[in-house]
Amino acid sequence: MIIQLEKDITDIQRATLEAKLQSVSYQTTEVATQFSEYIIGVGKKEFDIRAIGTMPGIRDIHRVSDAYKLVSKKWKVEDTQIDLGDGIKIGGGSFAMMAGPCSIESEEQIESTIAHLVKNNVRIMRGGVYKPRSSPYSFRGLGIDGLKLWYKKASEAGIKIITEVMMTEQIDDMIEYIDVFQVGARNSQNFNLLDALGKVDKPVMLKRGISGTIDELLQSAEYIFSNGNEKIMLCERGIRTYENSYRNCMDLNAIAMLKEKSHLPVIADPSHGIGVRRFVERIALASVMAGADGVIFEVHECPEKAFSDGQQTLSYEEAETLFDRLRKTFEFRENL
Ligand code: PEP
Ligand code: MN
Repeated sequence: MIIQLEKDITDIQRATLEAKLQSVSYQTTEVATQFSEYIIGVGKKEFDIRAIGTMPGIRDIHRVSDAYKLVSKKWKVEDTQIDLGDGIKIGGGSFAMMAGPCSIESEEQIESTIAHLVKNNVRIMRGGVYKPRSSPYSFRGLGIDGLKLWYKKASEAGIKIITEVMMTEQIDDMIEYIDVFQVGARNSQNFNLLDALGKVDKPVMLKRGISGTIDELLQSAEYIFSNGNEKIMLCERGIRTYENSYRNCMDLNAIAMLKEKSHLPVIADPSHGIGVRRFVERIALASVMAGADGVIFEVHECPEKAFSDGQQTLSYEEAETLFDRLRKTFEFRENL
C-alpha cells in the first residue's frame, strides 16, 4: 500500500495515520523524495482503504501488492518525464537520443563527438570515464580528470552528459560534472550504490543486469525511489542467453513489458543489446516500435580505433542516418 501525504500534513494527522496503520498491524516505511512524501505500508490484513484515503493530510492512497511499488504503474498511471533543463526532457512524449563513444579517450575525441552531436541536433552525450571491463588489462577510463574536461566542453556546447558511476565513493566527486548517472549492468543489483543514488537529486539511468529479470530491475529502481530520488530511467541493454552468435540478446519484449509495468521512461541500448555494428540500426528502430522513450548508442569518429567496444560502435555517417530514422520512427509510432 502506498499513501501519499499532503505537503502541509500536521503532526497530529501523522500520528492519527500511524495509529490507524498500527491497529491493522501494517509495517511502515517513510519515503521523502524531491517531489513528495509517502508512507509504504506492508501488511496482510484486509480493510477498506477509504478509511485512510478520506483522512485529512492524505493526498492519495493505493493498494500495490507487488514487490516494487512506487515505480509501478499501479501507483502512478501517467508516464514520468525527466527534465534535464534547457528544454531537454526524457519520457512522457519526449523522445531522447543519447550517443557518444563507449569510453571517453581524449580532448580531441570529446570535441569531435560534440561537434557531431551539435550538427545533428542531439543534446545528450554518453561516454564512460570509469569503465567496467571484463579483463583488468583493458582500458579502464580517464577517471575524474577526463570527466571534468568533458563536462566543461559539453556544457559550453549545450550538451548534457550521461556517464557510469561504479562505486558509492565516486558520487560526490562526479556529481558536479554530470547530468545523468548511469548504473551499469554489472551494478544493477549493487544495493549500496542504489541506496546512495537515491539520496542525490540527479537523474539516474539504471541498466538491466546481464542476467537480471524485469522484476529485479524494477525492484532495483524501487531502491533508488524509496531512498528519495524519483528521477529514474530504466534501460534494456540485452541479456545473456544460450545464444552466442551475438554479444547479448536485446530483449525487445522487456521494453513493451516495462512500459506496461512502470511509469518510468524506458531507454534502449542497442549497441550492447546486440553488440554487432551492422545490426545496431535495425535493433534501435525495433526498440522504438516496442515502446522505448529513448535510445542510447555508441558512436566514434573511427570505430576501428575505439579504445573499447569498437565492434558495436557506429561511424558518424551511420549515426547520422540512425538519428534521422529514429526521429521518423518515433513520429510514425506516435501517429499509429
Ligand atoms: C556502457 O554503457 O558502456 C556499458 C559498460 O554498458 P553495460 O553496463 O550495459 O555493459
Ligand atoms: Mn560500451
